[in-house]
Amino acid sequence: MADAERIPGFNTLAIHAGAKPDPTTGARATPIYQTTSFVFDDVEHAASLFGLQAFGNIYTRIGNPTCAVLEERVAALEGGTAGLAVASGHAAQVIVMQTLLMPGDEFIASKKLYGGSINQFNHAFKSFGWNVVWADPDDISSFEKAVSPKTKAIFVESIANPGGVITDLEAIGKIARQAGVPFIVDNTLATPYLCKPIEYGADIVVHSLTKFLGGHGNSIGGIIIDAGTFNWSRDKKYPMLCEPRPEYSGIVLHETFGNFAFAIACRVLGLRDLGPALSPFNAFLISTGIETLPLRMQRHCDNALAVATWLSQRPEVAWVSYPGLPSDKYHALAKKYVPKGSGAVMTVGLKGGYEAGTKLVGSVKLFSHVANIGDTKSLIIHPASTTHKQLSDAQKVQAGAGPDVVRLSIGIEDKEDIIADLELGLTAK
Ligand SMILES: *Cc1c(COP(=O)(O)O)cnc(C)c1O
Repeated sequence: MADAERIPGFNTLAIHAGAKPDPTTGARATPIYQTTSFVFDDVEHAASLFGLQAFGNIYTRIGNPTCAVLEERVAALEGGTAGLAVASGHAAQVIVMQTLLMPGDEFIASKKLYGGSINQFNHAFKSFGWNVVWADPDDISSFEKAVSPKTKAIFVESIANPGGVITDLEAIGKIARQAGVPFIVDNTLATPYLCKPIEYGADIVVHSLTKFLGGHGNSIGGIIIDAGTFNWSRDKKYPMLCEPRPEYSGIVLHETFGNFAFAIACRVLGLRDLGPALSPFNAFLISTGIETLPLRMQRHCDNALAVATWLSQRPEVAWVSYPGLPSDKYHALAKKYVPKGSGAVMTVGLKGGYEAGTKLVGSVKLFSHVANIGDTKSLIIHPASTTHKQLSDAQKVQAGAGPDVVRLSIGIEDKEDIIADLELGLTAK
């Protein structure tokens, strides 16, 4: 019996979790169930699925067997109880917040976040009446001070994009616990290979699957992982979870589904009604990508550290922000939270300013100039002339996108080729 109880290691879970050979055809790879709908056994079966009395497939907007493999796999890798795959990382954030917040509520967010999330929170979420209160991850007490009776959640990134900030998850998780609100961690840049936020107090983990989990730059996707740790009924603050749902003849989701009630609420209320479902084809590509996640992430990290070390010694370079460097301000936090490596993304400041930044981006050959990270391929962008172009100069600097800044996402090519390409770009006339 010992074997049956054995918990597989991370590499094994990345390949096997959630999947088994197809019972009808024997197909070893997970089939792409490219169908909108699923035939019910009989009228009673249909009624029990619609009433949440039985689990099963109804319609691909609500769930799909190919997507289910992906959900179980990422939940296993993160150490959560259940997952919900959706159409993008941004869709995951919308569904999480829609499940937690009512109009007029607040959530606290780290101000060091992916630029797209800052936009989403400042504009789209405000139009829903969900008010973001920004806090500074370099000053943990700012999270404590931001807590109010209207606070419903705290949101941070484990490794923040693009600045190379490592967030003190344990400290902020404690503040969330004291405030009685769920702690949400966007683990996109770290992936569960480098960091498992649930071990440090996260109640909900979200990902853009578009980046390292899919890993090949071919599919947009997102996922929500329920840690199963939060008591939704305690303070009666979360009506979607702790009050009878008229949509389902008065079921209270937390009473019925216990430690995976949040994932269920996101699916049967959020995804069902808002609609950003992941396509089965994207789920297939992303699950296949995850099979090699541990191998890819280690190579990403090893290459990135070599590149950051090389860049920090170049005469053209003013500074390199990468937590893996011993001199980096976040190095101590990196040793605690991401001991296997600090990920693939870094920012670099060039002594030659705006002109040097655009020249580097225009001169490299191996790097691709794209607004993405987390591909097998090395990627580069000059935020001041692209993603952050609309901001004032002062706003650019505050967002870590000053005129001298270049963002790199280091791929898994040979590191000698990556460095040679950067040398070509830095020395171009
Ligand atoms: C890309 C990204 C997102 C948004 O994900 P999409 O899949 O592009 O919607 C959210 N958070 C982080 C940290 C990201 O890098």
